[in-house]
Amino acid sequence: MTHTRHDWTQREILEIYNKPLMELLYEAATVHRIFHDPNTVQVSTLLSIKTGGCPEDCGYCPQAARYHTDIEGNDLMSVSQVKAQAMRAKASGSSRVCMGAAWRNVKDGPEFDQVLEMVRTINKLDMEVCCTLGMVTENQAKRLAEAGLYAYNHNLDTSEEYYKEVISTRGYEDRLQTIENVRKTNVTVCSGGIIGMGESAKDRAGMLVALSTLDPQPESVPINALVAVEGTPLEEEKPVEIWEMIRMVATTRIVMPKTQVRLSAGRTNMSREGQALCFFAGANSIFAGDKLLTTPNPDVNEDMAMFKSLGLNPQKAFVKAPQPETVEATASKYHALGEKPKWTRPEHKIERNETAKQVAKAELKK
Ligand code: SF4
Repeated sequence: MTHTRHDWTQREILEIYNKPLMELLYEAATVHRIFHDPNTVQVSTLLSIKTGGCPEDCGYCPQAARYHTDIEGNDLMSVSQVKAQAMRAKASGSSRVCMGAAWRNVKDGPEFDQVLEMVRTINKLDMEVCCTLGMVTENQAKRLAEAGLYAYNHNLDTSEEYYKEVISTRGYEDRLQTIENVRKTNVTVCSGGIIGMGESAKDRAGMLVALSTLDPQPESVPINALVAVEGTPLEEEKPVEIWEMIRMVATTRIVMPKTQVRLSAGRTNMSREGQALCFFAGANSIFAGDKLLTTPNPDVNEDMAMFKSLGLNPQKAFVKAPQPETVEATASKYHALGEKPKWTRPEHKIERNETAKQVAKAELKK
């Protein structure tokens, strides 16, 4: 399909998620090639600017003060520390920096002013700057926008039904309210979730309904696999199978075609082959650096070696998914010149509810 739908149902999404894997992969890769360059993956860096001591009770999070984990808490980093880390990240191929603070919500005052200064500083480095600071009011979102924030992350985590099994200190409505507050500014929305918290496939589909029916859909959707940390209520959860991750990425790509789908936490448990299938299925971002907030993550050199063997290029900052009209125009321009478009796409325009198999059949008839 070339147009974004905002009326996906849980049943439809579940049907996609449960398709035979080869069909699901083919369909997701087809959609991916219409809207994105399949050989480009964004490298992002996640910085924990204030670690631990959080009053919330997210069952997966080692930073919640109430759980007994090995996390070493830190006060808010200085602007110069953040700048130095962002410059290092840029030098090693990152085009986006996401700053995370373990807060329930943003409080106006000197600490928020310091974060605003960090945003201004990273902005000058010509990198996309994202923040994840907990709940924000409309006014705080406006101040972040004025400072030059490119994206605000606030994950829905899971389905509305399963949410209360994982978090009790705030509700799903609070999450949606923050997203709405961010939407009142020109800051883009980053919102996704975590799989492997004991939820069902129906809950995974439910989360994708909540995200895909937002209008506009989030520009960025991180898909995380739970990293079960000792001392948290979810410490006993079984690791997510790579097939579940691939299915989740592929389904996200199909229902949110223009979105940047981010392969986030849990990559240390994935083989290169598994990650390659996630990229084929539509993931177009990874987080680099040996730590993802507080949990382990592959070393950036390993990631660059993986990019090299897969022929992937790191994406530059501020690249937006092309609109369908742009895709058509670019493809016909290249065809007129007898050249291949930068991204290949089926000639046949995919209609709503049409499967990739039907598209291929239509192509063969020509
Ligand atoms: S996920 Fe965020 S809000 Fe929840 S406990 Fe961890 S730091 Fe706090």
